[in-house]
Amino acid sequence: MGYSIHTYSPERNSPTGQIADREFTGAYDDPASVRAFARSVDALTFEFENVPSMAAEIGEGEGAIVRPAGAILYAAQNRLREKSMLSKAGLPTTTYRGVSSLSDLREAVQCVGLPAILKTAAFGYDGKGQSRIADDRGLEGAWDALGGQPCVLEAEVNFEKELSLVVARGEAGDFAAYPLVENRHVNHILDFTVAPAEVQPEVCAEAESLARQLCEFLGLIGVVCIEFFLLSSMREGGKGGRLLINEIAPRPHNSGHWTIEGAVTSQFEQQLRTVCGLRVGSTEQLRSAAMVNLLGELWLRGEPDWKELLSFADAKLHLYGKGKARPGRKMGHITVTAATAAAALEAGLAARSALQRS
Ligand code: AMP
Repeated sequence: MGYSIHTYSPERNSPTGQIADREFTGAYDDPASVRAFARSVDALTFEFENVPSMAAEIGEGEGAIVRPAGAILYAAQNRLREKSMLSKAGLPTTTYRGVSSLSDLREAVQCVGLPAILKTAAFGYDGKGQSRIADDRGLEGAWDALGGQPCVLEAEVNFEKELSLVVARGEAGDFAAYPLVENRHVNHILDFTVAPAEVQPEVCAEAESLARQLCEFLGLIGVVCIEFFLLSSMREGGKGGRLLINEIAPRPHNSGHWTIEGAVTSQFEQQLRTVCGLRVGSTEQLRSAAMVNLLGELWLRGEPDWKELLSFADAKLHLYGKGKARPGRKMGHITVTAATAAAALEAGLAARSALQRS
């Protein structure tokens, strides 16, 4: 689109660095280095939440446009802040309590109930920093496993499906949502996404309305993904609705990668559009799609044989250029588009299995 891209991260030759016009390397908490980077750009965004919000504040201080705003990054990078922000916005979340000691945990269990999931408040993603507590005997073990850091205790939700919605909001308040998608996780890590989700239209309308409410509450400009638990029946308390928000990510999300092939405008183009003050593009879906993740395990016996995968005529391979493959690390993904979402998923899973056999 004619923009020049600068990127900043602690590693050299990072995935974005490999394609950016200029790669800056430095610690996220090195103010001088972040300042030099911020001075080199007109607009700034981030593509994961664990960038200290101080970096965004420095960008704002240097006069760069920062989208989404640093305050939104600050809220999203800590589960407790995120949940209290969602509650303030009147949005439905799991029942939760903040916990900062073993005795807090004992009290929290009284109100949240068991089974529950204890999660570190900061720096958790893909199931890192989580411990399930089945009964009272598990309290101490869970607390020790997470290293005594500030945590959130959440009621375990017996969900019917996990869904997510990626939306974009421009500076003029223009807003567009992609179709709601279904996500399946293995070991708390996203395994695949099917677009669109097979759910009733009311559920899609509910998700979109909650997303709009969130964006307007935050005055968000950018792309945000909202992850939901779909309950099998309406929530208690007469509030209606079948969705609870699990978490939000104010950036393009793994469950939106299918939009590269499957939608008129990809989530990455939306990020660029919103950050640069352009109107949001069309979120219309062109074809049903499935996205299947490729994790580091696939590299156990060396580089997979990509020819096996690419013998599937509809499979599109995306490799992120991450240096080292580690189990559980997201190294890339496959997208398949097809006449139906079920057919796309079947082909995507078959393509990945072909790689596993290679
Ligand atoms: P998170 O990092 O919070 O998104 O958690 C990763 C995955 O763990 C979710 O996508 C769910 O599959 C599962 N999970 C997390 N929290 C809960 C919960 N409160 N109840 C049931 N499953 C959960």
